[in-house]
Amino acid sequence: MNSKRLETLAHTKKILIKIGSAVLSGSEGLDLKIIDALVQEMCDLTRRGFSIVLVTSGAIASGKHRLNITGKLKSIPEKQAAAAVGQGRLMRVYSKAFEKNNLFVAQILLTLSDLTDRQRYLNIRNTLSTLMEWHVTPIINENDSVAVDEIKFGDNDNLAAMIANIIEADLFINLTATDGLYDCNPSESKKAKLIPLVCEITDEIEGMATSETSSVGTGGMKSKIIAAKKVTSIGIPCIIAAGKKKKILSDIMAGKEVGTLFLPQTSRLNSKKYWIANTLRPRGRLIIDDGAKKALLDKGKSLLPSGITAVEGEFDTGDPVHCMDSEGNLLAKGLVNYAANDIRKILGLKTPQIFSVLGHKDYDEVIHRDNLVITGDTKKIKS
Ligand code: GLU
Repeated sequence: MNSKRLETLAHTKKILIKIGSAVLSGSEGLDLKIIDALVQEMCDLTRRGFSIVLVTSGAIASGKHRLNITGKLKSIPEKQAAAAVGQGRLMRVYSKAFEKNNLFVAQILLTLSDLTDRQRYLNIRNTLSTLMEWHVTPIINENDSVAVDEIKFGDNDNLAAMIANIIEADLFINLTATDGLYDCNPSESKKAKLIPLVCEITDEIEGMATSETSSVGTGGMKSKIIAAKKVTSIGIPCIIAAGKKKKILSDIMAGKEVGTLFLPQTSRLNSKKYWIANTLRPRGRLIIDDGAKKALLDKGKSLLPSGITAVEGEFDTGDPVHCMDSEGNLLAKGLVNYAANDIRKILGLKTPQIFSVLGHKDYDEVIHRDNLVITGDTKKIKS
């Protein structure tokens, strides 16, 4: 037992569990024994009063096996078709395993565009919380058969991090094929050591992870660290651990030192700001002057038209944009109250002048501070 772990887990109620393809599938397609064992553990946790939401991969791996396809699928249509074959089987296997424990499951298939639309995002949140109230386990996967690049999460680690935010999880458990994060690639060096605790995800920590994957996985350790960074930044601890290890979930919840624990960072972004920062793709840029930069960064103020010097891109009211300084440093991301063309007309002006120029004034601010997320670091972004 480890006191840091017990302290971190002390008030855990809602757990987001992500299981990767490499855990669920063996040479014979879906590994029913592993799935049964993990489901048994999830059901035990549910009976102990925890609420569980599961994000699971395995559709493509299962479809490939059914179709006797070996090696990696290359094209998107092939992956989409394999997922269409495998997703049904994946759900059947899970629901049978849960039913053995007298518990039900619900399937939710998502694309990124379901989460970038605020209304659909809220609908998903309501569905998930109702299922949790009913003690039904939501089983989520990317809707691979319809997802193309522009609306893809990229990998299920990213999807799982977004769902952890939606349900305001107390813990994110990412079950994978390795024991956790190693200080160097364990498949290349015998000296690689497992890191049990990460207090902060620094560049050095990110550098330890590679994007090397198994023949069925996506993203590798790198995408798991990125997901860990996203959730810990909003105050959710994350544990990366080996999904095939016996009793892994009960060991984690007992505070045993298994896998790698990433501690939550103290500054917590609320759910809406997380959505703005991590779910939405920016549609344009506002270049702002030094006065506005100071107001945003040091004083926590909203962005007014007077501080804007230029507008790049075409976007509409409510769209997400990046705010940059005159040197091209990324400062913040937020939702605009005015469309690009309107901002071009009112930039540099004082708030009372908005009405006389546009003929309407719905807001004083171009971006209200409640819809503005400061990036924290001033990364240069290429145009
Ligand atoms: N959605 C994919 C599947 O179920 C997996 C994506 C991933 O593992 O990141 O097969």
